[in-house]
Amino acid sequence: MQEIKIPLDWPNISELERDYILKALASGYVSSAGPLVREFEQRFAAYLGIGHAVAVVNGTAGLHLALKLLGIGPGDEVIVPALTFIATVNPVVYVGARPVVVDVDPRTWNLDPAAIEKAITKHTRAIIPVHLYGNPADMDAILGLAREYGLYVIEDATEALGSTYKGKKAGTFGHIGVFSFNGNKIITTGGGGMLVTEDPELARRARILVNQGREPGEIEYEHKEIGFNYRLTNLQAALGLAQLERLPEFLATKRRNAAIYCRELRNISGIGWQEETPGAESNWWLFSIVVYKEKYGLDRQKLMKHLQNRGIQVRPLFKPVNLQQCYKAYSFNHCPTAKALYTKGLNIPSASFLQEKEIIRVIGALREV
Ligand SMILES: *Cc1c(COP(=O)(O)O)cnc(C)c1O
Repeated sequence: MQEIKIPLDWPNISELERDYILKALASGYVSSAGPLVREFEQRFAAYLGIGHAVAVVNGTAGLHLALKLLGIGPGDEVIVPALTFIATVNPVVYVGARPVVVDVDPRTWNLDPAAIEKAITKHTRAIIPVHLYGNPADMDAILGLAREYGLYVIEDATEALGSTYKGKKAGTFGHIGVFSFNGNKIITTGGGGMLVTEDPELARRARILVNQGREPGEIEYEHKEIGFNYRLTNLQAALGLAQLERLPEFLATKRRNAAIYCRELRNISGIGWQEETPGAESNWWLFSIVVYKEKYGLDRQKLMKHLQNRGIQVRPLFKPVNLQQCYKAYSFNHCPTAKALYTKGLNIPSASFLQEKEIIRVIGALREV
């Protein structure tokens, strides 16, 4: 394996993160007790312009909690896109509900509203739009369908911190939005996540459920509900606070680099890329291309090798949910667009510290073929 010279993505850690973490360590508050979790929640909510944010141990837990809070369970169906990371779908099964997989739009790679409408039955309770690779889903259409059919919307905004749709931040459209701070996401706390909502009652119950079902101020170990241990720690919140301060810098770099990719890729025949949804501004978490082998000359697999040999880190797109072994017992719809994108698609270097000259080198390697 060639040494990686231009990474796909990598945490961007500076002196600020070191400072905040050392201060948290010195305070002795390393666990979930400690003032920084609340401060991180408040700053995060303020950044999004939403009423409430509840920190959680990771994005998957946030999605699980969201489904629990909305009372989704056995007998219910939840619509999810075929092209997503598996963690969008598994929590639906955790609560005993049934995932219904729907195909995506060939340009935006996100849930296709027409396909959603076809999949709605009398058992459908919720839609989980994913803002794939940072590109917001068509929220007007999705919210319209949700209103028409009386469905909940849980935004899987795990990849979309800082993205906007019609000027409003991704994650603030649904009944609940969920973010992830895994090591590879746009900001990281090592592992972590955030559940956001405008509804004070959902937020109040979320705070109880993340803490083993224990109500605030309860000192006698009385638990009225069966909860989870899904809290973020003070140490992680310290890292999160520093990362959140630097988010504008990360977004600016990712958007500049994406603009270079878009400008230069136009001149390479046989390469397409994920397009921003009309009205949306992506955070361009991972810039992603599709390779049309007849026009380009190489298929995705050979292009991957070619780039890896030059130290350029790339990755295939997520394998569609309906093609996953772990879901083979489910009878999902065929999703030809998701499958075509998967067989042709690649994530290319998008780390938030990559310089213009590194992006130009990636383009040079794409052009060599
Ligand atoms: C990262 C991710 C998740 C899960 O987040 P974790 O913090 O890793 O649990 C869920 N959905 C999508 C689309 C993701 O990319």
